[in-house]
Amino acid sequence: MIIKNKTASFFALLIILFIGYIIYWGTTKPVSVVIQAGHEGRTTGNTGAASKLFHEEKWNIYVANAVAKQLRGWEIDVKRVPAHVRFTRAKIAVSIHFDGATNPCASGASIGYPSKDSHAFAQRWKKLYAGYFPFKWQEDNFTANLKEYYAYKWIRANKFLVLELGEITCEEQTTWLKPRLKKIAHLIAYAIATELGENIRKPNF
Ligand SMILES: [Zn+2]
Repeated sequence: MIIKNKTASFFALLIILFIGYIIYWGTTKPVSVVIQAGHEGRTTGNTGAASKLFHEEKWNIYVANAVAKQLRGWEIDVKRVPAHVRFTRAKIAVSIHFDGATNPCASGASIGYPSKDSHAFAQRWKKLYAGYFPFKWQEDNFTANLKEYYAYKWIRANKFLVLELGEITCEEQTTWLKPRLKKIAHLIAYAIATELGENIRKPNF
């Protein structure tokens, strides 16, 4: 009887370990693309830039959803994540943000990335978006938030870009940005798909 119980316990343990392994594998399985909406779901801490009219988080969510939808439409697997991230592996990770400035219109678009592995992709994005976005650019990694973005540790991606798509505290920029958010999302999706080697036609706006 004792032996039988021991055998049963052993198999029960084996099954628990197996289920645990499947859950672990499911949550850490590499995906092609991770898209993050910056500040999404944060109620304290860094809740994002805001002006009287607009809040960065809302725009981030809108753009991130549109990018994810477009990529899925091209049959690319996407994991859409909020500000709170768990350990994830991906080929490409892109975090969507809009900048804020104490002096309105002192900022513009910029890019953050963790290492030189992402540098070439960052320059390709800059070239693409600079052909469309008519305002100023900041240097790459010009703030600590871009250079040492907290999610670099959690999302292990071959290439990781944090995109500041413009300045939400600059009226001139928001007037231009607001009606173009969907097009900008399309441009981001195109840049990601191309980086993955997909043959997608370049959107012309
Ligand atoms: Zn932000």
